[in-house]
Amino acid sequence: MFVCWFYPVRMSRRLFATVALVASVVVYGAFAAREGMRRGVIDDLPIAPNTETAQPTTAPKTPRTDMKPSTTKHIYSRAGWEITPYPKSKVDELAIKLTPEQFRVTQNSGTEPAFCGNLLDNKKDGAYCCVVCGLPLFTSAHKFNSGTGWPSFYSPFDPAHVAERNDSSHGMERTEINCARCGAHLGHVFQDGPRPTGLRYCLNSASLQFVDQGQPWPAGGEPVKTETAYFAGGCFWGVEHTFQQAPGVISAVSGYQQGKTKDPTYKEVCTDTTGHAESVKVVFDPTVISFRQLLEGFFQMHDPTTLNRQGPDVGEQYRSAIFCTSPEQLEQAKAFVADLTARNAFKKPIVTQVEMAREFFLAEEYHQDYVEKTGRACHNVNPWPAIFGTAASGKASAH
Ligand SMILES: [Zn+2]
Repeated sequence: MFVCWFYPVRMSRRLFATVALVASVVVYGAFAAREGMRRGVIDDLPIAPNTETAQPTTAPKTPRTDMKPSTTKHIYSRAGWEITPYPKSKVDELAIKLTPEQFRVTQNSGTEPAFCGNLLDNKKDGAYCCVVCGLPLFTSAHKFNSGTGWPSFYSPFDPAHVAERNDSSHGMERTEINCARCGAHLGHVFQDGPRPTGLRYCLNSASLQFVDQGQPWPAGGEPVKTETAYFAGGCFWGVEHTFQQAPGVISAVSGYQQGKTKDPTYKEVCTDTTGHAESVKVVFDPTVISFRQLLEGFFQMHDPTTLNRQGPDVGEQYRSAIFCTSPEQLEQAKAFVADLTARNAFKKPIVTQVEMAREFFLAEEYHQDYVEKTGRACHNVNPWPAIFGTAASGKASAH
């Protein structure tokens, strides 16, 4: 059994001051940049744009809760959408555009008559988005004919996009479903659905807007434009956990990377012959956290001066490395290491590898969220409050 253990690495005060300044500038600029987010299109179903290489498949997952320096909470789904609940004022503003029937169903928990909704018999490929805020809620991949007269699905687009609450109205005990972001009433979920979930999400057509596959997302329905970076800093349990706590990190998962074999097992990697590093794939919202801030955090959460070793863990798989996904990241990471070296931020030379990322293989399920699942403490620093300034709590997410 390997021990997850980290050296709390201290950086100079001068560096911390620089970090705080850069963080404030980047975050301030990010708010403006977000407005220019490019509209994505639906290109494949089931849709989950951040699952291109590897993501845990054990849904449902609790969505991430993050903190911005302004103390504004940001909640992301694993599929890559921001699902921070809208304030009532925003919902009221959006509800103005609704038809009387859409308003009655979504804002007053109405139910449309059976066999009357316009999406009941829709068999086209595409996504069913919230008619109020545009968030994708269901897809054609999970639609089935329940015979009830209402559009039915056995699974949501992402479990975090659909909220549930008890409904005791009309003398019945039911589970109401709502849009997790704007609170629109959608329908109910029952336990009599088909496999594999056994669930039947019973929808009102009036609460949905259908978007054909290949067409742009509706207004407000775009995913967060994410970036990905990979970090190896010894045992991936603690590195993953620390990145999960960062504001703007949508997901951090553990895997193996830059080795000689495909899809290795933990046992194979532990032989120290496959060339893989224990690595963490970090998907992040660059309008909230920059790649530079991720670098700042990375160099505080591990010791970059010990070659092929991290604390008591020895072997090439425990090497310190940054695996970049773009030439820009590569250049920035190299410059960052050069800057740390020039500043003598560490007492010994930095041995961190900086290279372009090759294929990332997701580690076994029991390695994912290991620290959270086991409650095992890593002797690790939480670098994010210092990087984001004192207003950020750096609170561990519910992830
Ligand atoms: Zn909504």
